[in-house]
Amino acid sequence: MNAHVVLKSATPVFARYSGIAGTLAFRYGGPGVIFMLHSTVDDSDPYPDDGLRCPVAVLEKALGWLKDNNVAFVSLDEAMERLGRPSAAKFCTFTFDDGYADNLTQALPLMESFAAPFTVYVATGMMTGAIDAWWLGLAELIRTRDRIELPDLDCRFDCKDPRSKKRTFQALETVIHSDYGALTPVKAAIAEAGIDCAALARREGLSPEQLRRLAASPLVTIGAHGERHINLARASAAEVEQEMIGSRRKLQDVIGREVVHFAYPFGHADACGPREAKIARAAGFRTAVTTRRGTLFPAHLDHLHALPREPLGGSDSPASLRCKVDGFYRALRSGFGDPVAHM
Ligand SMILES: [Zn+2]
Repeated sequence: MNAHVVLKSATPVFARYSGIAGTLAFRYGGPGVIFMLHSTVDDSDPYPDDGLRCPVAVLEKALGWLKDNNVAFVSLDEAMERLGRPSAAKFCTFTFDDGYADNLTQALPLMESFAAPFTVYVATGMMTGAIDAWWLGLAELIRTRDRIELPDLDCRFDCKDPRSKKRTFQALETVIHSDYGALTPVKAAIAEAGIDCAALARREGLSPEQLRRLAASPLVTIGAHGERHINLARASAAEVEQEMIGSRRKLQDVIGREVVHFAYPFGHADACGPREAKIARAAGFRTAVTTRRGTLFPAHLDHLHALPREPLGGSDSPASLRCKVDGFYRALRSGFGDPVAHM
């Protein structure tokens, strides 16, 4: 699971059709993009955490638009190789975080139909239940309640319908990512409602057998995403190393293949920085991805453990995809600064 902020839908349209779009694309649109997804579902309506649930129909439309616009689908390894031999040709690669079983049942058949390679970053606790999957518990709490009261946070939400449930999840997720202290009362409310986050993780996560089937596809790369999916920037260096090396070892044991790519849990600026990048490099990972926004440039070959990604989800349209390929969000987030996003 990774935090991201949904920008107002008018923004992409503005950039697409205003005169500055071409100028921005020239400066911020590198040759490649790494797209980030999580769970892939039939219909995101029943899920309060819809930012993490990409409807398969949306993904299909995105793949079609990218193909029609001559953006080549490549593996993560090939994306890195292409950065070493720049050309005008655009490419992208797809990544799915956490290790949801629906990446096998829903995403794989669609990705196969487009011959689109993708990487699945598995938090090994999704298989074992040894994970702090509070976001799944929070979604379940909101899904099953019409009203949420968190007096410690001075928060009250009426959440009777799907739209207000989604707003409630988004609001609480934002609060937690801006202040991790807020997690304590949220977790208490989840526990008080009798919701077992570990059981939810096991239910939604890939089983070892499913992981083996997914890894058997020639289109799929398996990457590591830690064991417990904790905020690494708040852990000791020894814990960070254990999360990285431990999750890699467990995945390698299941799939019988080397794991050389890593995704930082949550991935935002308060969850990973230069220390985590240094540990990932020293642990032998070839690349590591964040959730910083931006496209890929040849200069990223000097920042292989701080690669940016662009989220892909239910709110995407051709206009927003154009903005992502053109690096528009990096331009905004950086205040029109350095196009090359890293730590
Ligand atoms: Zn994650």
